[in-house]
Amino acid sequence: MSLAVRDARLDGDVVGLRVDDDRVAALGAGVDAEAGDDVIDAAGMALVPGLVNGHTHAAMTLMRGYGDDLPLMEWLQDRIWPTEARLTAEDVYWGTRLACVEMIRTGTVRFWDMYWHPEAVARAVQDAGLRAAVALPLIDGLDADKSDALRVEAERTLDVLADAGPSITPSLGPHAIYTVSEKSLHWIAELSSERELPVHIHLSETEGEVRDCVQAHGLRPAAYLDRIGLLTPRALLAHGAWFDEDEMALVGERGATVVTNPVSNLKLAVGREFPYAKASEYGIPVGLGTDGAASNNSLDLFQDVKHFALMQKHIARDPAAMPAREAWAVATGRRAPLLGQSGRIAVGEPADFLLVRADAPELTPGDLTANLVYAASGSVVDTTVVGGRVLMRGGGIAGADEAREEAIASARRLGVIA
Ligand SMILES: [Zn+2]
Repeated sequence: MSLAVRDARLDGDVVGLRVDDDRVAALGAGVDAEAGDDVIDAAGMALVPGLVNGHTHAAMTLMRGYGDDLPLMEWLQDRIWPTEARLTAEDVYWGTRLACVEMIRTGTVRFWDMYWHPEAVARAVQDAGLRAAVALPLIDGLDADKSDALRVEAERTLDVLADAGPSITPSLGPHAIYTVSEKSLHWIAELSSERELPVHIHLSETEGEVRDCVQAHGLRPAAYLDRIGLLTPRALLAHGAWFDEDEMALVGERGATVVTNPVSNLKLAVGREFPYAKASEYGIPVGLGTDGAASNNSLDLFQDVKHFALMQKHIARDPAAMPAREAWAVATGRRAPLLGQSGRIAVGEPADFLLVRADAPELTPGDLTANLVYAASGSVVDTTVVGGRVLMRGGGIAGADEAREEAIASARRLGVIA
């Protein structure tokens, strides 16, 4: 049975769409359902590409709202790290399933994750029907003596993830330059090159990180990564808020991707914003992320795309600095090929798309893209399709109640809630 969409609006035209296997097989004004198709009547709805969350820690939904408004180190040391030390694979599975429900509900079709028990993350992603790049956080506490054991653990995880199927992209997740020794960063660079694996790392998030890096290595974070051989087109740099102009030029030259997380940066008060206009000047591919639900606290990318556009206008002191169309292109993956989503709906492309309620008050009247960026929340999404599979229809998601109940049970067991 094939999936068919009837009477959807696409760029002002009324079109039909048919899926063959997991790709768009036909699209256009004359395209109609065939006998036996599973038909979605999309009258009153607009067809748009799915969103891609370029940086998150999905299972941190379990710690949503836990220690909000505390200073950063107090929050990490007293709340987050002790809780994470108690996490089981089962907790991570249900925390990730809850995250997937929230992402499906708000139109995210792929995400880049870095979290504990990555095999449980992968299982949750597959069961939910989404796509994800999955990484174990690699941390040796800057202790080179722990580097060899970390490598064994990293390779074991990669082997498990390699068998997880086409919806899972195994990746390397060195947590940050202040938690991973130079020795480990060297073998991570080697492994990435040998196996052509993406490397997902937090970089230049805070001023303190930059100061410590200059003190320890005589280089700013991007230059330090480059010296190690980690600044490549396979690198995904989360944040980059404190890059200086030389670092931007270097990142652009090496072809590394930056994922900016404006809401998390604002909430954790990092004091600077990744400058998109400069990034474009240097040809840096850019994506958008939420970061974890403990520091956002939402996984609804519609909030992040609005903050992204507004912050870029604000720091450029120019409302024309970030048009809605450009912000939407970033949120749908079009400005960062590494993220793995083309952001296009076309014949031959994977059948990853959304139907949004074009008659929702917040999308009325005016330009659809501008309304999606400035006015909408994820609640305008009616239908989410990934690889031709309908994950949400009319707002209903299979397994959502179970995911919610199990995640609450985990949060209670972990002591996050009473
Ligand atoms: Zn993060």
